[in-house]
Parts: sequence; structure tokens; C-alpha cells
Amino acid sequence: MSAQRPPAVDRVLATPAAQSLIAQYGAAAATQAVRAAIDALRPQALAGTLDAERLAPGRIADDAAAQIGARFAPRLRSVFNLTGTVLHTNLGRAVLPDEAVAAVVRALTAPVNLEYDLATGGRGDRDDLVEDILRELTGAEAATVVNNNAAAVLLVLGTLAGDGREVIVSRGELIEIGGAFRIPDVMTRAGARLVEVGTTNRTHARDYEGAIGERTAALMKVHTSNYAVTGFTTSVSEAEAAALAHARDLPLVVDLGSGTLVDLARWGLPREATMRETVAAGADIVTFSGDKLLGGPQAGLIVGRRELVARIKKNPLKRALRVGKLTLAALEPVLRLYQAPDRLAERLPTLRLFTRAQSDIRAQAERLLPAWSAALGPGWAASAEPLASQIGSGALPVDTLPSYGLKCATTGRYEGIPPLQRLEQALRTLPRPVIGRIAHSAFWLDLRCLDAADDEAAFVAQLHGLADRLRAA
Ligand SMILES: *Cc1c(COP(=O)(O)O)cnc(C)c1O
Repeated sequence: MSAQRPPAVDRVLATPAAQSLIAQYGAAAATQAVRAAIDALRPQALAGTLDAERLAPGRIADDAAAQIGARFAPRLRSVFNLTGTVLHTNLGRAVLPDEAVAAVVRALTAPVNLEYDLATGGRGDRDDLVEDILRELTGAEAATVVNNNAAAVLLVLGTLAGDGREVIVSRGELIEIGGAFRIPDVMTRAGARLVEVGTTNRTHARDYEGAIGERTAALMKVHTSNYAVTGFTTSVSEAEAAALAHARDLPLVVDLGSGTLVDLARWGLPREATMRETVAAGADIVTFSGDKLLGGPQAGLIVGRRELVARIKKNPLKRALRVGKLTLAALEPVLRLYQAPDRLAERLPTLRLFTRAQSDIRAQAERLLPAWSAALGPGWAASAEPLASQIGSGALPVDTLPSYGLKCATTGRYEGIPPLQRLEQALRTLPRPVIGRIAHSAFWLDLRCLDAADDEAAFVAQLHGLADRLRAA
């Protein structure tokens, strides 16, 4: 075959397809994409191995459109979280209610009174937007908000003990949270000195008492979020720790981690101490996350005694750790939902997902099974099976929620890659990637988080592409 000449860039740019690329992405990006598309075909063209039609300007414009589309496609994408972990840190934790979404859109599209006092026309404080409601919901005297709970702990320790003074913590509570958040390291970064007391499984009041000295700035209790110490154990309650601290004129700081504003037992969920109970037990400062059990945006909430919160807010680090208007816009309506807890399970997506009945999830699994089996094609065995979902984000680590899902196993073989990994990978390449997990020689999709009717339809709608991907992955 003789060498072929690809069309000139200008001829491709003159096609209607290329003109619409120019309109959408600008001439520079469109020209660059057309050049790249031509360059990609050049070796085969020179070798003379292409159909003439493959070098038509319109076809090359289509190549350019595909390339530019991929380049400009959003990197942050919606996925289906069918991992069985409701608050999945890697998948963005809590999904927010409509009210929060609407408030974020408002805050994005018009100026807002973020730090502007509408009553006086003077400068306001961004914390004022949510402080009253946090006080009401927790019983604390004051509140402030920072970027996340890790920031809250850093800021609190830095304020109370950043001059190298000591903070006493039980050895049973020296946690590491995923993402390299370790209490001893945070303590060092904050400029405080950690004094460990007790043992991994048992810490007594006398251990704290014996460690209090001249240099002590605070006692601290940390929620053992992602593990449980069971068996022969003793720990000191918040109320006892508060009494010990107050007897020596020291504050008690509690890092509740996930923290909840309501008693979850009301919805048949495992019981956790609420923020209000922790404040009432005598904690002087309590910190917790906005996007764990609370079901709101990423944030670190700090509530407690007025003079301590005032000191925390004066710390120059507060300016570096503060939240932006989007966070506050989303947080306020989430907190408002807690003012009417009777309807919380319907209105707060996180709680709605936690409380979804297993019978409902089972019915869904059975409904989806035929489409799922068909999508997998031959060689796969799919079934609807009971599962145990996790709350996630280190909240209630040992408690699980009875759930249901789709299991698939295979005896099939693919070249190069084990079949379950192949399936997992193929699902990740769907237009809206589906994230499941491999366990016990099978692939699992926990359907707890596929609750909304439109989500289920979207899930089914893209399944037709799966069998091809399974072959091609
Ligand atoms: C999750 C957690 C943190 C970190 O909170 P982020 O909001 O993720 O920064 C700190 N302490 C405890 C006990 C936690 O559970």
C-alpha cells in the first residue's frame, strides 16, 4: 500500500464537529486536539494501512472531540457506593439533604452575610451563623467551627497546652484514625506534651490523679472510634474524669470523633453518648466531626465553656483552620433538621440510610437480580444474599446493620487478571462507577446506599455496558 496524506488541520477545523468544539472549548484547545488526532493517525497513514474513510476530516474531528471530552471531563465524579460502608471516607462520607444543597447553591451564586452583621451593618463573626443552634442542640455555652475534627483537636490542644504543658490521656485511647491522624502526633504538633496513663485495657481514676502536676493543662478523653477494647477492661467515665479535672481546676477535653446530636437508640441503632450528654457530664470542651454521624459537610465542631471557646477563637491558628461559606451554608440546614428530630430519619440522608429496613433492601436485591445476572453474562453466578453494612468513618466500629445485596462468583477465567478483580475493575469504568468489594472469593454489592428510586434506575440503565467491559477490561 502507498502512503496516505492525513488532511490539513484547517480542513478538519472547518467541519461542523470541529466548529462546535471551537464554540465550546475555544480555538486553541480545539486546534490542539485536532493536531493530536492527526498525529495519532500519521504512522498508519504513512504505512498506508488505513481506509481512506478513516482519514476523512469529519472522522478526525470526532477523534478530537473524544479526546477533548476526556480532557475536560470532571475529575470529581459521582459513584455508586455499594461497599456496605455508609460513611465511606474515601467516597466523601455523608451525602447531604436537599436543604443543604440549596443553601450551598445560594451561597455560591450571590453575596452572603458571612461576616456581616445585618442588624448593625458592622462586621460579624462567621461562627454566629451556627453558634446559637449548636448551643441549643448540645447545651454548651459556646461553639465554633473549623475545617474538620482533626483541626478541632489540634486547635484545642494548641490553645490549652501549646506552650509545652501536659495533657493526660489514657493509653487505651491513643488512637490512630485513617489518614495518619494519631493522637500522640497531633499532641506534638499542637505543642503540647502527652502524658499517658493506665494501660491499654485498664485505666483507673487514680491513674489520672497520680499524673496531675504543676505542668498539667488538661485531661483528655478520646472516643475509641475505630476499635473496641473488650474483655478485662476499665475506663474512667466522662463524668468521673470531669470531676477529677475540676477538683484540680483543670478542664476536661473530650474528642468524641463521630459524635451524635440525638440518641440513635430511638431508631433502633446502637447507642452512643450524645454531645449533650457529654457536655452535661462535665466536659469543658467537646469536639466532633460534621460529616460522620451528624450527616453534614466536612467540619470540626467545637462546643464548650464560654471562656475556653473564646480563647480557642483568639488562637491565630483559628484563622488558618476556619471554614468557608460553603461549609457554613451546608451545616446550618443540617443542624436545623435536628431541631425537629421526629422527621430526621426521612430528611437526613445519613440517618435514612442507617435505618433502611433489611426487608426493603432485600426486596430491592431480588428486584435487581435478573438485570444484574443478565448484565454479567455467562460464566457468572449471581444471587441475592444477606450482608452486614457498616456505619463507617470509625463510628460504632463493632456494630453492623443487617443489610442485603448482590453476590457474584465465577468459575470463569480471563487472561492476565483474576475474574473478581476484572469485575471490580469493569464496574469502575462505567459512566457512573460502581464501587463494591471482594470478600470470601466473591464480589459483593451492598444495596443499602442505593435507596432513591432514581439511583436504582440509573444503576440499571448503565448495566447493559458491563458484559462488553468484562471482556475488554
Ligand atoms: C474521625 C475522628 C477524628 C478526625 O475527624 P475528621 O473530621 O476526619 O478530621 C478525630 N478523632 C476521632 C476520635 C475520630 O473518630
